[in-house]
Amino acid sequence: MSSSDDFENYGAATRGVLAGRREEWTGTPGHPGAVVNPAVWRASTHLYPDMSALRAHPANEDGRFYYGRRGSPTQWGLSEALTQLEGDSAGTVLYPSGVAAIAGALLTVLRPGDVLLMTDNAYEPSRIMGRGLLKDFGIETRWFDPTDLASFEAACCERTRCVLLESPGSLTMEVQDVPAIAAAAKARGIVSVLDNTWASPLGFQGLRHGVDIVVMSLTKHVSGHSDCMMGSASAGPEWYRKLRLRSQGMGTVVSPDDAALMLRGLRTMKHRLEAETASALGIAQWLEGRPEVARVLCPMLPGSPGHELWRRDFTGGCGLFSFVLKGGTSAARDALIDALTLFGIGYSWGGFESLATPVDPAGIRTASQWPLKGMDAEDRFGVRLSIGLEDSTDLIADLERGLAVWAGATA
Ligand SMILES: *Cc1c(COP(=O)(O)O)cnc(C)c1O
Repeated sequence: MSSSDDFENYGAATRGVLAGRREEWTGTPGHPGAVVNPAVWRASTHLYPDMSALRAHPANEDGRFYYGRRGSPTQWGLSEALTQLEGDSAGTVLYPSGVAAIAGALLTVLRPGDVLLMTDNAYEPSRIMGRGLLKDFGIETRWFDPTDLASFEAACCERTRCVLLESPGSLTMEVQDVPAIAAAAKARGIVSVLDNTWASPLGFQGLRHGVDIVVMSLTKHVSGHSDCMMGSASAGPEWYRKLRLRSQGMGTVVSPDDAALMLRGLRTMKHRLEAETASALGIAQWLEGRPEVARVLCPMLPGSPGHELWRRDFTGGCGLFSFVLKGGTSAARDALIDALTLFGIGYSWGGFESLATPVDPAGIRTASQWPLKGMDAEDRFGVRLSIGLEDSTDLIADLERGLAVWAGATA
């Protein structure tokens, strides 16, 4: 393996290939680094050669066999690979899902009596966590307008301890000024947590933009194949230590089989994201020219909301974006989605296969409006697309068919 200096200078694709492959984790007996991937170590008990070894063992060190709950080279390889891709991170904690990672991070930072500020376009289960789990632990959640720094500052109070950001946000894709909000939070002693699932560290470096803890659902881009669930939280030394202790206290563990699948996905992530981004951009441009479409919500598209911030802060995109239909009804929008043959109907995203889901944020938001500012009141039925690895000409033909059905159902 190369020295760490070389590693830092490599491009993201090269780092994705090399990350986490320590020789002692990819060895066969007597042959360090003999295989490409760390083996799947299925193990609860780890055996010690004798009592003095058991007594001498530092019980809670990273990267040392101890007991199954502390992981094995399979999980350590994934965790280290993610740490190596996230600039300025000291370590990465793995969780059984993205939602578990969000809960793990928030329960590390927050205490009873604290207030959490949450961006109004947060992933819906994050909102539900605020109203449910966190409320039950005596933590209050308040929401703010994702695109308005003044709304964030106005929502801050003495008891505010943490802010949860998500950019671009779920369903409506608003890009937040993460560096400005993170800096404003830091000035007030507020800890910032970013849900960076959309961009991944390849598209946005959260810690380098001032965030304290970066959370990701690995279920999406890292898996990339819709067959595995996991989450992660990466941070600098202080928060990494606290995240790890809280996660150990909760008994959190991920399976070595799943970690091996995630490592497999990680190796090709850069190229999948690039292909999906190019395809999504072409499809977004095509949708923008369609008479049935009122607005395309795709920060990668010039002229789309959030594009300027995206260009300033991001180094890549992905296949996930939304569009809003001109007028129509919910039933017509359902007919459009039903007419698609290449797009599956289902939750999640970031897989190799394309998906479509309805976008109806009106009943969810409390600190921002839908339709978005500048949109007509009757343009409110949206569709979210996760563009996969199919040929974009085939996906466009499918959408053309769907829009024809929509037009028939709307006329
Ligand atoms: C899917 C998703 C999550 C949750 O991830 P799971 O692995 O499904 O629990 C969190 N944040 C965002 C933005 C997501 O899209």
